[in-house]
Amino acid sequence: MAGEPQADCLFCKIVDGEVPATVVRETDHTVAFRDINPQAPTHVLVVPRAHWRNAGELAAGDPVVAAALLADVAAVAEAEGLVDSGYRTVFNTGSGAGQTVFHVHAHVLGGRGLNWPPG
Ligand code: IMP
Repeated sequence: MAGEPQADCLFCKIVDGEVPATVVRETDHTVAFRDINPQAPTHVLVVPRAHWRNAGELAAGDPVVAAALLADVAAVAEAEGLVDSGYRTVFNTGSGAGQTVFHVHAHVLGGRGLNWPPG
């Protein structure tokens, strides 16, 4: 069921502490941790504690947590010193767009120049 923990979900396991991660921020609704394969000097993933497959399902199913997640993206960017230089927030949605973990996560990327359009 949407919002319920999924036994086979890597990010549910990170939220539960079952799989280790370098956590940089935790709130009642979200956990932020460093990406294991960083694509920029700063690459943090912000996830809701509850399991939702993607950003659209989260926003439709729990808009309060969706808003909290966006606020936490901004808080992570501030804490990582990315506000002045700029940063990028990415939600890959669907395997065709590069989503590999189907527990919604915001990528927060910064610390280098970021080209547009993305690849
Ligand atoms: P996606 O491709 O948008 O679904 O992003 C999944 C991200 O999770 C990728 O950037 C991976 O490098 C990252 N990732 C996979 N396993 C782990 C882990 O165990 N810890 C932290 N990040 C991970």
